[in-house]
Parts: sequence; structure tokens; C-alpha cells
Amino acid sequence: MSLANGRTYLAIPGPSVVPDAVLRAMHRASPNIYEGELVDMMPDLIADLRRVARTDHHVAIYMGNGHAAWEAALSNVIAQDDLVLIPSTGRFCEGWGEMASGLGAQVELIDFGMKSPMDAGAIEARLRADTAHKIKAVLAVHVDTSTSIKSDIAAVRAALDAAGHPALLMADCIASLGCDRFEMDAWGVDVMVTASQKGLMVTPGLGVVFFNDRAADVRTRMKRVSRYWDWTPRAQPAHFFQYFGGTAPTHHIYGLRAALDLIHAEGMEAVWARHERLASAVWAACEAWGQGGPLTLNVADRAHRSCAVTALRLGTPHGKSLRRWSEHEAGVTLGIGLGMSEPDDPLGEGFLRIGHMGHVNAHMVLGTLASMQAGFEALDIPFGGGALDGAAKALSI
Ligand SMILES: *Cc1c(COP(=O)(O)O)cnc(C)c1O
Repeated sequence: MSLANGRTYLAIPGPSVVPDAVLRAMHRASPNIYEGELVDMMPDLIADLRRVARTDHHVAIYMGNGHAAWEAALSNVIAQDDLVLIPSTGRFCEGWGEMASGLGAQVELIDFGMKSPMDAGAIEARLRADTAHKIKAVLAVHVDTSTSIKSDIAAVRAALDAAGHPALLMADCIASLGCDRFEMDAWGVDVMVTASQKGLMVTPGLGVVFFNDRAADVRTRMKRVSRYWDWTPRAQPAHFFQYFGGTAPTHHIYGLRAALDLIHAEGMEAVWARHERLASAVWAACEAWGQGGPLTLNVADRAHRSCAVTALRLGTPHGKSLRRWSEHEAGVTLGIGLGMSEPDDPLGEGFLRIGHMGHVNAHMVLGTLASMQAGFEALDIPFGGGALDGAAKALSI
């Protein structure tokens, strides 16, 4: 017997749950890519993407995942030997740096460890020391999905301004967009990258780069930019196919249209508030479990935790056995630890992540948490009491 039969739930930090309305929108015959509905829907689609990012500026869409969006953004403004600064709070910060280094950039990391957010003061000090203005961009990951640390991106802008430094501020909102509050223009972000399969609730396959006029101006001074990654024709297309550098990702566009309809029908403020409330239930449960067992939350301070994902540690062998149990016995798939390891756990199997991004509601979160507790019971993993009461209470305020 298994209790997993029934609708399964992928509670990992991306790909996230795809709403039925999005799946239905994608389930259709191939549309005409030269004229008609698909072509006509683009202006509103772009406008509605801007509203999610809180920007009035340019949007370029690529067929590709988040890694593609990373490379796309860098390719437009970072040339060989340019220096980029990465305030690092986890694996994804390092990953964006590796992407830059693969493109020939010089990469300098300020390592803030795996448990605390970026410190704007340290960033400002480094920028002030760069009197020759060699640093061309600061690559700041809003939420590092491996550690679930959320950093203050507006504070990074303030650091740049205080240092009087002209570097571009580039933000990775792949995990956070549509989950944690993000305001591109108000926070002074020049370039932002995201992808379709997390808070945007679409299947993996679209990378989106938002950029302002400052970044567009840096682009015009690049000696050359790969044709495929060049954001200029995509953001100002004379023909429909230029939006995508070739054949459009037809079904993804229909899916994204449906997802944006859901997001804007709910409203950005309500979307953020829902994520915050659901995350508070996850935190309440984890904090209580940790009082009487091995579970520890990766980020101690709630203010620095993302509302999209929670990273935690159970230690070996509990982390891996709980993931196995919850997937095979309860129908809930939890995320693996990523980029985490300890001397006696080099593969990081004692770490877990709970995704709570996108199309997620109260019963999904409560079901996940209760299933985890059933797993603790079944596997004899000690845990503190009151966790589910705490989670229910967090959702009943
Ligand atoms: C998921 C993620 C990425 C990578 O996206 P892929 O689609 O897997 O390439 C990069 N940065 C962050 C913060 C992410 O959450």
C-alpha cells in the first residue's frame, strides 16, 4: 500500500506547479506564427510582464531557461576582460559568476557565506576602493535558491550610489519574481533576469531579461554581441519573429499569457502577501520541529528568508530518507539540498528545500508540512511538538 496515489505535488523550488489554466492554454494546435492571435497578443504580454517586474523599461524574451537568461544579460553588457563583482550568498551567485567567467569576464566574489544576506556596507567599501571604476557590473541574486537567503537589492543600489560608482546593477530574480516583493525601477535595478518555471508558473523554457536605458546605452558601446543574445531587436522588434530570434515558443507564449492573467487578476500585492503568509506557516512548523529534533532552518532571521523557498538541514541519513518517504509514501516531492555539504556529508544529502513558489495555496502548504511530520514519525526522526498547530495558526490570522 502507498498513500502517494492521488494527485502528486512537486514541492521543489522550480519547476513549480503549473496551473490547470496554463496547461489548458498550452494544449492547442500550433498557431500561425506570421499573423493573427499570437502576433497580436505580444504588446499586452510585454506590458503585463513589465507590471510583474515593476518596470517601465525594455523586455527581451529568449527560448531558454534561467542559465540562458544569465548568459543573455551578460552578453549584452559584459565584454572580454571586464570585471564583475558578485556578492555571494549561495550556489546560484557562484553559478552566475561561472557564466560570466565562461564569457571571458574577470569575476570577483565577495563571499557572505551560506547563511546571511549580502552586506551592503562591504559592497560599498569594495566599490569605493575601485577608484578607476574597473568594475563594470554588480551581479546580485535577489533570492539564492540554494540557501533561501533573500538580500536587499535596494541597499545594493544605495551602496553603488553612496560610492558614486557607475557599475550596472544586475539582479537575478529567477526564484523571487512573483513571490518576494521586487520593484525593478524603484530599487534602481538596471538589468533583471528571470525564467518561466518558478513564480511565473509556466513550464521551463522561457528566459526573460528586463533592462533600462542605462543598460541599453552600455550595450551600444559593446564591440560585438552574439546575434542570438542581442537584446536590441527582441526589445524593439520590427517583425514578430524578432521577438524570439526565430520561431516563437508558441505554446509557452499561450501559457505565459494565462499565467499573467492569473497573477494580475490576483494583483501583485496580493500575490506577495500570499507568499509571505504561506512562508510564515512553513517557518512556524520548521521552527517548532527544530525545538525537539535535528531540523535546523538555514537562515536564522525571518527578515532574510525568501518567501519562495526554504532551505533546511536534517542531517544524514534523515534528509534523504525523508525526501524518499514523502515522495513515495505521501505524494509530495521535496527539493534536494543544492551546493551544501559538510565534512561528514560531502553530497549534502542531509539538506532539503521546500518550494512554496507560484501556484501554491494553504492546503498545499499544510499538506506538505503534515506529510513531513508523518515522515518524521514513520522514520523515527525526532521533532519538536506544536509545528502543525503553529502552521495552521499562521494561516488563520
Ligand atoms: C532556478 C534558478 C536559476 C537557474 O535557472 P535554470 O532555469 O535552472 O537555468 C538561477 N538563479 C536562481 C536564483 C534560480 O532560482
